[in-house]
Amino acid sequence: MAAALAPRGLVILDRDGVINRDSDAFVKSPAEWLPLPGSIDAIAALSNAGYTVTVASNQSGLARGFFDRSALRSMVRNLRRLVSAAGGHVDRIVVCPHGPDGGCSCRKPLPGLLLRLAKHYDTSLDTVPVIGDSTRDLQAARAAGATPVLVRTGNGARTEASLPADLANVAVYDDLAAAAAALIGR
Ligand SMILES: [Mg+2]
Ligand SMILES: [Zn+2]
Repeated sequence: MAAALAPRGLVILDRDGVINRDSDAFVKSPAEWLPLPGSIDAIAALSNAGYTVTVASNQSGLARGFFDRSALRSMVRNLRRLVSAAGGHVDRIVVCPHGPDGGCSCRKPLPGLLLRLAKHYDTSLDTVPVIGDSTRDLQAARAAGATPVLVRTGNGARTEASLPADLANVAVYDDLAAAAAALIGR
């Protein structure tokens, strides 16, 4: 049974470096899960503008044993609670728990997580914005037939400086707030 979509359809967000601060040492606990300035309000604005806001992220820290499902659930709860308090809603959240050598089909740059969302909502990803800060987010978006969008937070500034030629024309925004404002205004 497919889930209902809000009128403007899906938007798919990466988590670390887009919604919350990223860390080279992994975001391992709720205490380390710190929203970036403006990101929670941006999510609320997207959902109030009629987008179904979803999150798709690689969390190889699970496979690496850096944190467990319970810590991840606490971080998800914090995200949902903050967005609700801001008057918005985060819908489906999907995660790749595997490591880089896990041989899975969901770890970005592969499109598995995004395709799982497409299936859940029974929708095409054509024109669906996938907002990320790393090259692999953009590559996963392309591979899934979605629209890659880069933000400069997290790894984003580095990503922008070294974009592969086939991604040179992606839309780039300073942060999620700016990306959300552009989506809402179009
Ligand atoms: Mg990221
Ligand atoms: Zn995976």
